[in-house]
Formats: sequence, structure tokens, C-alpha cells
Amino acid sequence: MEIRDLIVIGGGPAGYTAALYAARANLEPLVIEGFQWGGQLMITSDVENYPGYPEGILGPQMMVEFRRQAERFGTEFITDDVTKVDFSERPFRVWVGDDEYQARTVVVATGASARQLGLESEVALQGRGVTYCATCDGAFYRDREVVVAGGGDSAMEEALFLTRFASKVTIVHRRNEFRASQIMTDRARANEKVEFLTPYIVVDVLGVDEGKLSGVRLQNVDTGEVTDYPTDGLFVAIGHDPNTKLFLDQLEHDAAGYLVTLPRSTETNIPGVFAVGDVQDHTYRQAVTAAGSGCMGALDAERFLAAEEGHLHDALAAPRVES
Ligand code: NAP
Repeated sequence: MEIRDLIVIGGGPAGYTAALYAARANLEPLVIEGFQWGGQLMITSDVENYPGYPEGILGPQMMVEFRRQAERFGTEFITDDVTKVDFSERPFRVWVGDDEYQARTVVVATGASARQLGLESEVALQGRGVTYCATCDGAFYRDREVVVAGGGDSAMEEALFLTRFASKVTIVHRRNEFRASQIMTDRARANEKVEFLTPYIVVDVLGVDEGKLSGVRLQNVDTGEVTDYPTDGLFVAIGHDPNTKLFLDQLEHDAAGYLVTLPRSTETNIPGVFAVGDVQDHTYRQAVTAAGSGCMGALDAERFLAAEEGHLHDALAAPRVES
């Protein structure tokens, strides 16, 4: 079986940038980019904070261009999901169903996904009133009333963003205290379009039969009382989860499942396996920081291979001891 220099797992800004750098360094990377390649930018509309696009660019278009740039230098792609990995010995082994691939180094760039409430009705109405991205869908709610579920900085940020369009934004949170920073909470409180409903959880999303969201069923956490709350949109902003299920038994991770890398490096606990982008960063979570991290991962992999090759040459050059 062919043993490649590098397999990149994941096709978002981090994975494609790692591939671009690795391809230009002649590592002939294979990117197993996932069936739904592109990552979170595929559900984003205008990206206006990526340097080099002064007029902004659509998220999916940007990912097409990232991918094309990596392809230009010889990256190979598999548009499917990795189903299993074995990093216990080298070469590392990566499976897509029954197909196995082997490599001397691996860059993990599987990103993170928006958390869902876990309701059947929520899934049924995704894209029909239930959304996870105010930046993407906020403009569809001009002069409408919306609910934001969550109590962290994301919920506050999304709520404030939505006040640009919506006539009223209700933040529904399961506790009376907010996880969000004081400054973000104060900003939301100061906005006259924002209302707070606590301590409530969303127990059902209404409108499944009509195929369009008409409200949310809320339950008071303290009293158990249930009320139906009419709304035009539900923005779920309850955080993100790293896509690390495949790696948890092999790579060091924190309590939330984010992969742990050495300081100022993308190295994981297994030499030759690197982690880049949102899969190891829950703080910045930006396309540009993910891309930067992808670049670091490729450089780390390249140096790792070069150092190893150096040792190999040293070993070959060393005088043989005859017994
Ligand atoms: P987060 O801090 O983990 O907050 C998630 C919120 O959702 C919490 O309030 C949590 O409630 C609630 N929640 C979680 N699961 C829930 C469920 N199943 N049902 C109902 N509520 C649920 O996530 P985040 O807000 O996305 O922020 C992530 C990180 O990014 C944080 O470090 C944050 O500071 C940072 N961030 C910063 C900014 C900014 O500064 N501009 C903007 C966005 C994000 P509990 O509090 O009860 O657990």
C-alpha cells in the first residue's frame, strides 16, 4: 500500500490551507475533506472580515477558492467522511469505509459544529425558521420577532446583530445568570429591542405540520410551567462542539473534547499527528485564524518529516559495525 507523506482530515479553511502549504512543499497531500466539505463557512453568507476581500465574499465561494488553490499545487481530494483512524503506530492508518490510507504524518482539521437543542421538531424546521447563524439568516427576519436560545457570548452577539433587522429579539436562557461576559450582557440589556426570558428551556418547536416555524414551547425550569411563545424565527446559539469523536481515544483532549496541542505548535500528544483550526481552538474560531493554524500544521508536518529524513540519512551514513 502506498505510504503518503501527509493526510489532511477535514476540508475547511484550516484543512485547505494545510494542504496548500504541504502541496507547495511537494508533500503531495491527500485531503479527506468530508462529504460536506467547506465547514462552517458553507452556512455563512457574506464574509467581510477575511483580509484580501475588501468587498467581502460569500462563505461558500471562499471555500471553493481555498480548495482550488490547494488543488492547483497537486492536492488530491476524497469527498467523503473518515470513519476510523489508528494512530497507535506508524505509518498512521485512516479509513473511509473499507478503504484504507496510510501516511507518515496526519493533520487533523475537522473543525467544530453548532450545537443543536436535540429536538425532533428542531430538525424538521431547520432552514424553515430554525437557524444556527444570525450572520447568515438575520436579514430574512426584517421587522419580524425572533427568539435566540442561549446565554453565552454567542447568544448576546447574535441577539445584538439581529436587532439590526428584527422588531423584537427575545433571549431565552435556562438560568437566571448568564455565562456571557458582563459587557456583552450589558449591551444586550441596553438594547430596547432585546427582551430576556429566564429560566426557560425550549422544549418544542411549533409549526412542523405547516412546514414553517410559528413559535416555541417554553418550560420554566423552576416551576415546570409550559407556555407557547409565538415567534417567526429561532436562532439556536448554545455553543459549538468539536468534531473529535474519531480521535478521543487516541489524542489528548480537554473536557469539552477539543484536541490539545503543545504551546506555540500544532503537535498533539502523538508525534507526527498535528491538529489545526477550530478542532483545537475554541477561543478565536475565525476563518483567518483557522487558516493560519492550518499553515502552522503543514510547516510542522514538513519539519517533522525533514527531521526524520535527516535521522535516516545519518543512520545510513553511519559506519557499519561488523561483528
Ligand atoms: P458557551 O460560552 O459555551 O455558552 C453556551 C450557552 O448556551 C450557555 O449559556 C449554556 O447554558 C447554553 N446552553 C448550552 N447547551 C444548552 C442546551 N442544550 N439548552 C439550552 N441552553 C444551552 O458558548 P458560546 O456562547 O458559543 O461561546 C463560546 C466561546 O466563544 C466563549 O469563550 C465565548 O466567550 C466566545 N465568544 C466570544 C464572543 C465575543 O467576545 N464577541 C462572541 C462569541 C463567542 P449554561 O450557561 O447554563 O451552561
